[in-house]
Amino acid sequence: MSALADHRIDRISTRKLHDHYPRTVGRNARLGSHGSGGTYTVTVVHTDQGASGWGIALGDVDPCQPLVGRRVEDVFDPALGVTEPTAMPLDLALHDLAGRLLDQPVYAMLGAAGSTTVPCYDAAIYFDDLDPDDDPRGLDAVLANCAADHALGHRAFKLKIGRGNRWMAAADGVARDIEVTRAVRAAYPDARILVDANDGYPAERFVDYLEAVADCGLYWIEEPFPETHEDLRRLRGDLKRLGSTALIADGEARPDIPLLLDLAAGGLLDVLLMDVVSYGFTAWRQVMPEVVAAGVAASPHAWGQPLKSLYAAHIAAGLGNVAVVEGVPGHTTGVEPASYHLVEGSIELSSAPGFGVELSPHEGAHE
Ligand SMILES: [Mg+2]
Repeated sequence: MSALADHRIDRISTRKLHDHYPRTVGRNARLGSHGSGGTYTVTVVHTDQGASGWGIALGDVDPCQPLVGRRVEDVFDPALGVTEPTAMPLDLALHDLAGRLLDQPVYAMLGAAGSTTVPCYDAAIYFDDLDPDDDPRGLDAVLANCAADHALGHRAFKLKIGRGNRWMAAADGVARDIEVTRAVRAAYPDARILVDANDGYPAERFVDYLEAVADCGLYWIEEPFPETHEDLRRLRGDLKRLGSTALIADGEARPDIPLLLDLAAGGLLDVLLMDVVSYGFTAWRQVMPEVVAAGVAASPHAWGQPLKSLYAAHIAAGLGNVAVVEGVPGHTTGVEPASYHLVEGSIELSSAPGFGVELSPHEGAHE
């Protein structure tokens, strides 16, 4: 541990990174186009000994500036994560820094409870059948996206559903959701298929979709409707009646931990999805034993940046209890090598220290 005592925080700087999805990603049940990538800020924590660690910032890092001069050991414990509340926006950067100072990958610091080959699903199958507005491409657009991502190494697909929430008449939306699900299953008989409605279904009507895809062997159902005991109890009953083994995943939109743990302990949820960045590494380390005690699995939400898939994979390999992580296809300029390596549907983590990804020299640098 002496490495963390020997280094003092000398400077906190920021860098811009740029993501490039393989294509423009369209609508989901709630939101319009998800764009083709975008620019975001990462934070770099430098020490007085010349070391540094970096990560996506958890909110505004200006309040962290008073930490300059503090020993790394004063704000971070490798066994726990961030221990000084002021340093919480640096959660990811400090995990990376501590890994580098201790010469170990973050997953090892977390306990190495899972495999470093982490199954991953393609999370970029949106409502591209509806675009462009004046000449919608239809089902073929969705199948083309699956084929393109399969070529990138993806072997499991999460299909956005809930077209009837905003973009189509309710019955037409359900019919298209069914058509898409059945077509992807027919094209990929062995693939895990996950579906995500972003809470876009009327709870009492989700069964219409479910019955029509009962033979598709769904792996998981994510946020079909806002989570309540009553509606999830009905869903559990419908799944049982239909002989479905689909997992129920929730907790992305509303990380209300007491409610989620209560639903989990009551047998109404199977996978908890709090975001890997906004909920955070330190919080995940604290809550995972409770998730295990509730008898359910975890899969930290990772959409928006390919780097978040890498972070989620470190949680999986470090804390265990994660069967599959969310894969954001694309590449990031400003980092070397790639954000993550995908081989036959799994992220292969390297044993490099920290998160194992370096910032490119100079590119996009600013203070
Ligand atoms: Mg989701």
